[in-house]
Amino acid sequence: MTTIELDNQYIAHTYGRFPLELVSGKGSLARGADGKEYIDMGTGIAVNTFGFGDTVWTEAVERQLRTLQHASNLYYTAPCARLAEALCLRTGMKKVFFGNSGAEANECAIKAARKYAAEKKGPEYYTVITLENSFHGRTLTTLAATGQDHFHELFRPLTPGFAHVPANDIEALRAAVSEHNVAGILLECVQGEGGVRPLTEAYVKAAEEICRAEDILLMIDEVQTGNGRTGALYAYMNFGITPDVVTTAKGLGNGLPIGCCMLGEKVQDVFGPGDHGSTFGGNPAACAGALTVIERLDDALLASVREKSAYVFRTLSGAPGIRAVTGMGLMIGISTEKPAKEVVSACMARGVLCLTAKDKVRLLPALNIPWELLEKAVSVILEAAAE
Ligand SMILES: *Cc1c(COP(=O)(O)O)cnc(C)c1O
Repeated sequence: MTTIELDNQYIAHTYGRFPLELVSGKGSLARGADGKEYIDMGTGIAVNTFGFGDTVWTEAVERQLRTLQHASNLYYTAPCARLAEALCLRTGMKKVFFGNSGAEANECAIKAARKYAAEKKGPEYYTVITLENSFHGRTLTTLAATGQDHFHELFRPLTPGFAHVPANDIEALRAAVSEHNVAGILLECVQGEGGVRPLTEAYVKAAEEICRAEDILLMIDEVQTGNGRTGALYAYMNFGITPDVVTTAKGLGNGLPIGCCMLGEKVQDVFGPGDHGSTFGGNPAACAGALTVIERLDDALLASVREKSAYVFRTLSGAPGIRAVTGMGLMIGISTEKPAKEVVSACMARGVLCLTAKDKVRLLPALNIPWELLEKAVSVILEAAAE
């Protein structure tokens, strides 16, 4: 049987896959089983920050695999400690918990908020406010946090203790905070799965102010927006706020599973031994690779992300068949006149892999995509949207 036939027979049908088997990749080029080469504008959903087969990352991971591939959290290992140090020094956060996915990072954040509130105010202060149209993961708790009802159907009862409010509505946020016994607010600065929609700066700042005033936690979900994706190391840095908790995953791993919950000053000591854990969390190979990602997200690289972003916005905005371009950095949503799925199929036929998010075409290229490939991909998108 072919890979596609085997997959259809033996893999649970949870994914709507594109009709393409990928077999290898180098940088921003992927090779299909069809023998064709594709420009990758999706990076495995914002995971392959430095593209396929990145030499620095691969060498660090390989070296670690040959040295010590796993030890469990019963022992100290250097890659995990060094990565935590790098993350804290670059963000000002104080402590880090490592898991293996975005959902797991958000689970940790929610547990941190509940424990902080339970100790500070009482166990009834457990509600976490999230936004309508948000996406926070697929576990039953992060699904409950996710403000999109269609993901909830037939999976109830979900974990209680979540309230959803419309994005960018400061009064609705204030009302929800006074209506519920709130532990924290969890936000994506740019809603990714929800259609690449940035929050307004006024809203994010108001959320911070409310959290300070009420002594509740401001938690930023940077699973998709983090690790240079928006042109800042973490997207919250574009908004001039100081969160209490930051979660990330996807692009930190560059292809290996990792999730990370960063705890700020207020909650740095919220967890004690036995409060939380993850067998694979802080895996040495994943952390050795992630450290090379963080180390290379320097000012020059972030400036190039902003420059490439400006080029994409400038070139696509107002072009035939394109209604609007949204997003931040190299996390870009394109509203097209034709259905997004048709544009994405037309791009694939022309050798460019794009994603969708809700009704938009979504671009999440490698942060180091070469200019000539970016220009070629953008010209293909222009053709596909216009035809
Ligand atoms: C992808 C994503 C998640 C879930 O991450 P997984 O690694 O799939 O568990 C959570 N939050 C946001 C904002 C995401 O984009």
